[in-house]
Amino acid sequence: MPGLLHKYRGRALLILAGACAVHCRYCFRRHYPYGDDPRRLEDWEPAFAYLENDSSIREVLLSGGDPLMLTDDRLRQIVERLERIPHLTRLRIHTRQPIVLPDRVTDGLLALLKSTRLTPWVVVHANHANELTGDCAEALRALVQSGVPVLNQAVLLKGVNDDAEALCDLGERLADLGVQNYYLHQLDRVAGAQHFEVSDERAAALMTAMHARLPGYAVPRLVREEAGAPGKTPL
Ligand SMILES: *Cc1c(COP(=O)(O)O)cnc(C)c1O
Ligand code: SF4
Repeated sequence: MPGLLHKYRGRALLILAGACAVHCRYCFRRHYPYGDDPRRLEDWEPAFAYLENDSSIREVLLSGGDPLMLTDDRLRQIVERLERIPHLTRLRIHTRQPIVLPDRVTDGLLALLKSTRLTPWVVVHANHANELTGDCAEALRALVQSGVPVLNQAVLLKGVNDDAEALCDLGERLADLGVQNYYLHQLDRVAGAQHFEVSDERAAALMTAMHARLPGYAVPRLVREEAGAPGKTPL
């Protein structure tokens, strides 16, 4: 259905927006045809009907682009529509805005996450401890203190975070903020990102270094996205 990706069992993803607060050079959806996706609420009905008709789906991921490009009012309309699908139990928001536009973590957004009958999870995207300071740290604390589980996914990027020091700093900083270090992604092979690529051997050595230095819960899972796989592929 337009705007809906259902690749993995039990969870489906809605591409709610084509834009982001920053546009990352290495973006895995760099060539995604966002222009074809629904924008008006009524255009989402086929996707909502699909979710309604598949009772194996428990969790809906709001993604994009960045779903927090939408206003709180529009998000609430979408969440209220999802709440009416009885077999849905969880709502996951994948967003980089708490990191790159921390003011977007509004009281209205926190209220929405707290009031929905769906269990909320928020997955943010920071690649380096240097991102997690000042108002960004405050935004993450506000989310965590409102009781929402917050996870981080990072992309392994040559020259940015491909050394043990940087990855351990990131792990420590996330742990200090109460954010779970969820995934470390091997780069998707999109055009123009080759200079960020790190070999699997180097990635494995970095994982070993993290295991030796971080608490177990602060070590992320190293994964890659592979077409046709039943989930992210662990490396
Ligand atoms: C990555 C992804 C998910 C979420 O996978 P998790 O392993 O549950 O975090 C869901 N749907 C699609 C299409 C994805 O690409
Ligand atoms: S925030 Fe995420 S979706 Fe947006 S450009 Fe960056 S990697 Fe892509």
